[in-house]
Amino acid sequence: MQSPHLRFVVLLLALVVLCLSDANGCPTIISRSQWGARAATRSTTMRSPATYAIIHHTVTPKCTTLSTCRTILQSIQNDHITTRGFADIGYTFLVSSDGSIYEGRGWDKVGAHAEGFNSRSIGISFIGNFQNEDPTQQQQNAAQSLIACAVSRGKLRSAYNLLGHRQTKSTECPGSKLYSIIMRWANWKRNP
Ligand SMILES: [Zn+2]
Repeated sequence: MQSPHLRFVVLLLALVVLCLSDANGCPTIISRSQWGARAATRSTTMRSPATYAIIHHTVTPKCTTLSTCRTILQSIQNDHITTRGFADIGYTFLVSSDGSIYEGRGWDKVGAHAEGFNSRSIGISFIGNFQNEDPTQQQQNAAQSLIACAVSRGKLRSAYNLLGHRQTKSTECPGSKLYSIIMRWANWKRNP
């Protein structure tokens, strides 16, 4: 017969397992409506799972709060739509210095971030400029947990290739400091 003490231990273990499974799930993603996104002018549905995760930087100021990130995200979206003629903000997701994740086009829409790779990739952009400066650890962790989440949700192949934008065209993106960091991450491929 179980003692009340044993039942308490079993309950505690169950709670620990529950918490761990949450930790292995997907991070919170700040939705388009939360950051005040404009509607996309058109969209193409993504055929999941993607083969590539492509890392970018925004070459904008950094941000650590929803209110400051909102302003930056809105200006990136305006630039992409008005100046570059894109249908929407180009990236699939963006991550800020405090480790928050912002929805760009989101899981199910083809992005406009790496020509020739868009329909086969998820584009994750680090908010800031990482040519001469490292992103925060929280920002790095957020991007890695988003990648793990993409695999667990079937949005990215488990044998995905991780690339920096500079591997797909002539560009500094995602900045030399950030690029040297992602070269050490799982699944980074020298030759895309
Ligand atoms: Zn880029």
